[in-house]
Amino acid sequence: IEDQAEDNPEDLVVRAPIVTVMGHVDHGKTSLLDYIRKANVIAGESGGITQHIGAYNVQLENGQKIAFLDTPGHEAFTAMRARGAQVTDIAIIVIAADDQVMPQTKEAISHAQAAEVPLIFAINKIDKPTANPDKVKEQLANMNLLVEEWGGSIQSQDISAKQGLNVDELLEKVLLEAEVLELKANPKRLATGTVVEAALDKGRGYVSTILVQNGTLRVGDYLVAGSNHGKVRAMLDERGNQVKEAGPSTPVTILGLDGAPTAGDKFRVYEDEREAKQVATKREQLQREQTIRTQKHITL
Ligand code: GDP
Repeated sequence: IEDQAEDNPEDLVVRAPIVTVMGHVDHGKTSLLDYIRKANVIAGESGGITQHIGAYNVQLENGQKIAFLDTPGHEAFTAMRARGAQVTDIAIIVIAADDQVMPQTKEAISHAQAAEVPLIFAINKIDKPTANPDKVKEQLANMNLLVEEWGGSIQSQDISAKQGLNVDELLEKVLLEAEVLELKANPKRLATGTVVEAALDKGRGYVSTILVQNGTLRVGDYLVAGSNHGKVRAMLDERGNQVKEAGPSTPVTILGLDGAPTAGDKFRVYEDEREAKQVATKREQLQREQTIRTQKHITL
């Protein structure tokens, strides 16, 4: 996707951080994401988000927001990165305190470091009698990853995802990290962002969860996502409520595309439908040619 013109500095406003949760299998990624999704962290809302969705926003009591990519495991992170999508601002690395730093933990750490994404450790399962968070921190120190408690600069928080213990504190640390990063975006431009997941829904047609990273997406906008395109017919937030627009760092589910783009595909809004169609057609053509080339390669 072609770069748009530089943003005028005075149009830039603070945007919410976009967070990915990574870590070794069974260390508690899903439990943490589920707790955050279901807990009543959203100010003024009576309940949590009940449905599963690939990305969602939570709003803390103080009004500040955090966008979570709910695609546990670094496979999704790696797949997105492979497609050139730089989506995550902060990575939470979950490590079970009754276990230790495992191969997948190390892999997650190096993926985040390669992407220059700051880490926050969530030392999980501290409710367990066998939990030994200090042992985990010592292991991290031996890997040159010094947490703040140990005189280093990496934030870490002991939590129990199962009981929801200290999860608020963890989210506070995310916001602290975000403040340091000075994340900004321009809500005045045409929206750009990344596809999180997409599928064909029986009743509604193609349904895509996308993350607006810059600009503002509105119902009626024409967009191209990967080699798909369409007019945004309706937009839903993480609670299934219809919304008219979505600003920077907002995940939103859209209806109206002519197909299901791939996770990690970038999207961009175009001024008019004709231009959007032309771009999408060109992409389709390129993709077909690539497929033919690959097939030839295979038969040779
Ligand atoms: P994932 O593979 O990293 O997504 O891990 P899960 O969230 O699926 O958790 C793996 C197992 O650990 C499940 O049986 C969870 O119930 C359990 N678990 C997760 N977090 C905690 C916790 O804080 N305390 C305890 N006691 N168990 C936990």
